[in-house]
Amino acid sequence: MREVRIRDTLSGELRALPTDEEIGIYACGPTVYSRIHIGNARPFVIFSLLDRFIEGEGYETKLVINVTDINDKIYDAAKVVGEPSGEFAARMTKAYFEDTGRLGLGRPDAEPLATETIGEILELIAELIDTGHAYESGGDVYFKVRSYLPYGKLSNRRTEDMDQGEEAGSESLKQDPLDFALWKAHKQGEDTSWDSPWGPGRPGWHIECSAMAEAELGPSFAIHGGGSDLVFPHHENEIAQSEAAGRPFARLWMHNGMVETDAEKMSKSEGNIFQLSEALDRYGREAVVAYLISGHYRQPLAFGEEQMKQAVAQVERLRNFFREHPVGGGGREPGGPPLGTRAEALDSGSGLAGSQVPIGGPPGSRLGAFRDALADDFNTPRAMAEVFELVAEANRDELPGAPEALLEMLELVGLESLAEVEDAGDAEAEELLAEREEARAAKDFGRADEIRDRLAELGWEVRDGAEGAKLVPKA
Ligand SMILES: [Zn+2]
Repeated sequence: MREVRIRDTLSGELRALPTDEEIGIYACGPTVYSRIHIGNARPFVIFSLLDRFIEGEGYETKLVINVTDINDKIYDAAKVVGEPSGEFAARMTKAYFEDTGRLGLGRPDAEPLATETIGEILELIAELIDTGHAYESGGDVYFKVRSYLPYGKLSNRRTEDMDQGEEAGSESLKQDPLDFALWKAHKQGEDTSWDSPWGPGRPGWHIECSAMAEAELGPSFAIHGGGSDLVFPHHENEIAQSEAAGRPFARLWMHNGMVETDAEKMSKSEGNIFQLSEALDRYGREAVVAYLISGHYRQPLAFGEEQMKQAVAQVERLRNFFREHPVGGGGREPGGPPLGTRAEALDSGSGLAGSQVPIGGPPGSRLGAFRDALADDFNTPRAMAEVFELVAEANRDELPGAPEALLEMLELVGLESLAEVEDAGDAEAEELLAEREEARAAKDFGRADEIRDRLAELGWEVRDGAEGAKLVPKA
C-alpha cells in the first residue's frame, strides 16, 4: 500500500491519507438545471478515478457524489421549457446518470439527492437554531455567520469581499448581510415546497450538502472535493454549518480547477461539444476521459476542438500499440485461448488483483512510477507520461510484459478498453477465415481469394497447412 498524498486546500499542505480507516470521499455533484457539460464531468472523472486508485492500493473507500435537485436555477429553467420543476429535475437527473454512465467508470458508492434528504436537512437546521447559530426570519432560516468564529478559513477572504450571492430582497430579513439562507420560505411561482417547523419552503443549497455528506459518511470523513468555483461561498458555508453543529466534518479539502473555454474564439460546434453527451458522441469515451486527465486536477484545463483532437490522437496511439502488441504475449495464433474469452481474461487475469508484469525491467518500473505519480497528489499527466514512455520503449525493442504493464496502468485511469480493441478485429478475422474454409470446401475459389485479400487488408496472413488454415499477423 502506497502512501497517498493529496494537497489540502484548507492547510495548503500535502497530506497523507490515513491507511487504517475508511477513506470517505464526498464530491459536490451537479445542479441539474440542464444537461451536464465537460466542466461538470471533470470532478466526476477525477474523484471516480481517485477512488479507484486508492482502492486498488488497498484502502477501504466510499465515494459519494450528490445531485442537487432543488435549486433556484431549476425553477427558472423549468419555467423556460414549461415543465413542472420536479419533473424537469428528475428528467435532468436521469440524463446526468446516463451521460456520466457513458464515461464507463462505473457509479459512485452513493449518489444522494437533495429531495431524498429533506428529513436530515430539517434536523440539522433545527440543531443550528437550538444552539444559537441560526435564526428564523419571515419563514426563512439564516445561518448567523459571526457566531462561527473560524468563518472564512477555507477561502481566506476578508469579510468585505464576501458576497453570499443570494437573491435580492433577502437583506431585510437578515440580521447581518454576511448571513446566508438555510431554509427559504415558499414563494409565489415556485411549484414545489416541503413542510417545515418554519412553514412550507425549501432548503438552501449549502445545507443540502452538509446533510447529504453526513447522511452517507458520518460526522467526520476523509476528503471533501469539488470544483474550485465552490470554495466560496458553498464549501465555506458547509464547513460553518457542520462545524458549528459540532461535527468535525471533512479532514481534507480537495479542489479541481475549472475547464476553460475561450467564449469568443469558441465556434458553434465547440459550443455543442462542450455538452458531455455531444463530446462523447463525437470523440468516444476514451478520448473524453484521456482529455480530462491530461492536466493536473488542480490546474485549469483549456477546452476546445484542438485539445480534443490531441486526446483522440493519444487514444489512437494506444489502440495501435495494442494491435501490434496484444496483451497475453502475442499469442494470436489459432490454438491459443478462444478469442471470445480474451476480454474476460483481461478483466480477471491482469487486473488489480494480481499483476502479471515482471518485476524489474522497464515495464515494471514504469508501472511503479505511474502509481507513484498518482500517489503524489494524483498527478495524472505525470502518470500518463509514463504510459507513453513505455509505449515508445516497447516500440523500439521487444519488451516482455509491456502490454500487461500498460493495461494495468490504463485500468487505473479507466482506459483499459483500449487494450481490448484487438478482440473485435480477431473475431471478425476468425469469422472470415471460417467463411473462407466453407468457400474452399464448396470449391468457390474466387470467393476464397476475395476473403484472403480482405484478411490481408485487416493485417492477417492466411497460412494453409496440414491441420487446416491458420491466421498469422502480417509482419
Ligand atoms: Zn455541495
